[in-house]
Amino acid sequence: MTNSTLIKLNEKAVKFVSLPLKMFINGEWVESLSGEKMNVIDPSTKEIITQVPKGDISDVDLAVKAARKAFDRGPWTTMKPNDRALLLLRLADLIEQNAEELAHLETLDTGRPINFSRFVVATCVDQFRYYAGWATKVTGETIPVSTPGNILNYTRREPLGVCVGITAWNGPLSMAVMKLAAPLAVGNTCIIKPASETPLATIRLAELIEEVGFPEGVVNIITGPGSVIGDAFTTHDGVDKISFTGSTEVGRNIMRNSASTIKKVTLELGGKSAHIIFDDADYQQAIQNAANAIFMNSGQACFAGSRLFVQKNIYDQFVKDLAEYTKNYKLGNGFDPSTVLGPITTAAQKKTILEYIDLAQKEGAELVVGGDATGGDLDKGFFVQPTILAACNNNMRVAREEIFGPVVVAIPFETVEEVIEMANDTEYGLGGGICTTDVKKAHKVAHALRTGNVWVNTYGLMDVASPFGGYKQSGIGRENGAAAIEMFTEVKNIWINLD
Ligand code: NAP
Ligand code: MG
Repeated sequence: MTNSTLIKLNEKAVKFVSLPLKMFINGEWVESLSGEKMNVIDPSTKEIITQVPKGDISDVDLAVKAARKAFDRGPWTTMKPNDRALLLLRLADLIEQNAEELAHLETLDTGRPINFSRFVVATCVDQFRYYAGWATKVTGETIPVSTPGNILNYTRREPLGVCVGITAWNGPLSMAVMKLAAPLAVGNTCIIKPASETPLATIRLAELIEEVGFPEGVVNIITGPGSVIGDAFTTHDGVDKISFTGSTEVGRNIMRNSASTIKKVTLELGGKSAHIIFDDADYQQAIQNAANAIFMNSGQACFAGSRLFVQKNIYDQFVKDLAEYTKNYKLGNGFDPSTVLGPITTAAQKKTILEYIDLAQKEGAELVVGGDATGGDLDKGFFVQPTILAACNNNMRVAREEIFGPVVVAIPFETVEEVIEMANDTEYGLGGGICTTDVKKAHKVAHALRTGNVWVNTYGLMDVASPFGGYKQSGIGRENGAAAIEMFTEVKNIWINLD
């Protein structure tokens, strides 16, 4: 592996990380009350980029009080919807104007290729513009009730209150934005807790929020270990809603804790998505889809197509050609424009992935290609090669547990019925992929999959207008589209006696 030429870090991003980074609470930039800090690491080089405050329970309380005050007594909830929309549109414009800096921060923090970060920042602009449109369009109903008397019965959709967004490290900026745009549009106040590994772009976003001029306390950003401050949010009686993206294990804990105050929860959790390749598929397209489905973002995607079901008569050749295709992927630093796959974002995650690759072989799987990635610049960071495991079955641990890395488990199948049964034989239900040229089969299988999202002859497409979320233990609720408006509003029913 040769050493690469990197594009220069954006000057504004350099300046941003050179200044002390703080939390944004009640419209003020503050240190944690304890004064403690946590390191932020560049996964391509393992170097410390900067530090952020290590918030604890007392900081959580301040953030909740600020958001509570802004909701209960601030100008936010009485602000006209078109004025709220205008603030969201201005924020979208500011993100667009600072897109390159945000993309650089996201790549520095997560390691993902810079062009991918640029694409993600553009989707963040879309998020705020789309939900700015919703601010003036959320309506209730008048209901023709049959009760005695002369009654006017109608509903209003009202904001929930204080909404806490907790994000994972595999898509920090876009997750923070998804946990702000819809709730803000309908008049909630928000607190975001970014993943400790990747807080940078979220903190920069808070600066843009300040620049736009949202009222104080409407958006608060707090950094700190989830294991320490998570419970404080989920049990706090000042919080109305938790919107969480992360592992199923932590999601379960959040749901359990939220029961103490009957908080609303949206949970975007793990996955072990089936990608089904039928023998009538467009072969080259299927190879590309299968590869993208698992290897994009170095496999650190909740909806990654990590269980690859291939029809038996093409299985051997498909696995061989897929392995050949992985040679197209150049691994490297995200700031090298030729990089297709960046590093794993955290040291702990790289270790987990390599352990699963070992386990697979102990379980009898054949390592076709992949494993640890070393040599040249790769030694500096947390890299793992695109990895294909063949001779697998759906009962192996590597076929049942989320690995969250560039590791695909290839499983043969013979019939449509058999593959539907195996695809659904999992505790997860996030994504599903189908490659076939038979339109009837495509729809039938798409309907049979117990997952929130299905892609046919493509994989992993997302859009702000299109609902996203999981069945089964992949989550509760949906993000994006009209679904997110429902997730962040209460329905109030009003009865008026007109006699
Ligand atoms: P994680 O360990 O569950 O952490 C996610 C977030 O929760 C982080 O901000 C973490 O804080 C915080 N947290 C940790 N313990 C907590 C607690 N007890 N209470 C409240 N919050 C707590 O997940 P991860 O390893 O960062 O992310 C990978 C997982 O996210 C995978 O399972 C992946 O499938 C899932 N994911 C799902 C979606 C989806 O939309 N369905 C999208 C992306 C990722 P710290 O960072 O401080 O630990
Ligand atoms: Mg980092």
